[in-house]
Amino acid sequence: MIQLYIPLNFLGVIYREIKQSLTDLNRMFTLMDQDREVADAPNAQPLPLNDQPPEVRFENVQFAYDPARPILHDVNFTIPAGKTVAVVGPSGSGKSTLARLLFRFYDVQAGHVRIAGQDIRDVTQTSVRRAVGIVPQDTVLFNDTVEYNIAYGQPGASHDQVVAAAKAARIHDFIQATPQGYETRVGERGLKLSGGEKQRVAIARTLLKNPPILIFDEATSALDSANERAIQNELRSAAQGKTSLVIAHRLSTVVEAHEILVMDSGRIIERGTHDELLAAGGRYASMWNMQNAAEVTDA
Ligand code: ADP
Ligand code: MG
Repeated sequence: MIQLYIPLNFLGVIYREIKQSLTDLNRMFTLMDQDREVADAPNAQPLPLNDQPPEVRFENVQFAYDPARPILHDVNFTIPAGKTVAVVGPSGSGKSTLARLLFRFYDVQAGHVRIAGQDIRDVTQTSVRRAVGIVPQDTVLFNDTVEYNIAYGQPGASHDQVVAAAKAARIHDFIQATPQGYETRVGERGLKLSGGEKQRVAIARTLLKNPPILIFDEATSALDSANERAIQNELRSAAQGKTSLVIAHRLSTVVEAHEILVMDSGRIIERGTHDELLAAGGRYASMWNMQNAAEVTDA
């Protein structure tokens, strides 16, 4: 019995450690709303980054969630270092899938997703996820305080930094008005936030994380138009000098992009600058005209 006791005790320690790290991972993947689908290669090294933003490149990318149903077909584009590429297109065309692949929630079936020339399958997931900040379409919050949820992107951030990010994301006043302010618990078991409030928490988190690569996936789609306009300015200044992938539902936010990709059924069907695409008179031009007509009617 004595012989057994020591190993069991030892196992207990290991078990607790493993359980803790699994809990942390789980928390992370609950936040990202995805299962663990990818693993580090045996000798994966961290992404080699310097203080310059890296180039991002999708090369002949094919992808399917389910092998029987291909989603992306031969997708090619480059976001030059420090530039913004915008993606527009109908719902279900594969826009968010591009974001998920760049964050490496999933691996491509063919082709390459590269950051700074490195296929992201060859480097550690941790280093990729540190380099990339994503404001997803639907944010899932931790069952923890508002402070924790904002600081998550930047462990060790000071309270002042958290507050500054919350102000920039226009969520500070809302937080101040809750009973316990930044100590208020949110999430499924805490204070329930609206879609727009969660989106602003996610924006604050990403502003605080301040990574060299930014992904905004319809990052302001749940906001009312006054908040949306205010935050668009913050996002534009946050993206200065960063390599950004902006998935937009409102075309006014993509006008200045280095390149705009128009997606349909998992393919890039048009590409160019705003002016080029308007002049081409294709899909983008008709989306633009329709949205402007709708906005004139709204006003
Ligand atoms: P978009 O962001 O342009 O609306 P998505 O990239 O989210 O489109 O989705 C592209 C296609 O992939 C859609 O047909 C969608 O139903 C499918 N899809 C998205 N996520 C998953 C998933 N987790 N499992 C299976 N199919 C998915
Ligand atoms: Mg989407």
